Amino acid sequence: MNYEALGLTIKDDLKEAIALINNPEIDPDVRQMNLEVLFRETGGQVYRVVYAMNAWDMDIDFTEGEGINDFYYGLAKNVSDSISTGGRSNVDAQVDEWLSNQILKAMWDAFTTAKEHGKYPTVTRNEPSDCCDFCAQFRNMTFVDPSPEVFKRHDRCKGTITTSGYKTRNGLYVGARKAWVYMGN
Ligand SMILES: [Zn+2]
Repeated sequence: MNYEALGLTIKDDLKEAIALINNPEIDPDVRQMNLEVLFRETGGQVYRVVYAMNAWDMDIDFTEGEGINDFYYGLAKNVSDSISTGGRSNVDAQVDEWLSNQILKAMWDAFTTAKEHGKYPTVTRNEPSDCCDFCAQFRNMTFVDPSPEVFKRHDRCKGTITTSGYKTRNGLYVGARKAWVYMGN
């Protein structure tokens, strides 16, 4: 399943929330702190849902992931600073990339935990013809024992990284939509 596409459906809502919080009339320190809270909560929720969906599919639904990394501090600072530097379009791209990276982290964490429990999920990469050399090395390949690099995308390439566990392979993946509903989508 392509969890990135699913996770990015909240992108527009996230940008609306950023626009409200990042009001130039609000003190910069307050803006930055509120952005940290927004990113921590949103990123954490997306991570938990994506991890839980993978864990269900990979038959390790009794586990939890370690959570998002702390890059949201830097992101909050960049977004807050963009008011004075005028780098608005640049921060939109940074937010997209950050959200995507938290989703990929949840997939990698679930994949790693599954392997520790003797499960055999797979990850498949599909890359368009215009991707970078790094991504091209994984084009249309499926892995059972991937390196962490398989879960990384470089230069904002548009390929897809898809994890499959047992239920996706059996066509039983009915839980996906249900799991997503509690994020309000
Ligand atoms: Zn690339």
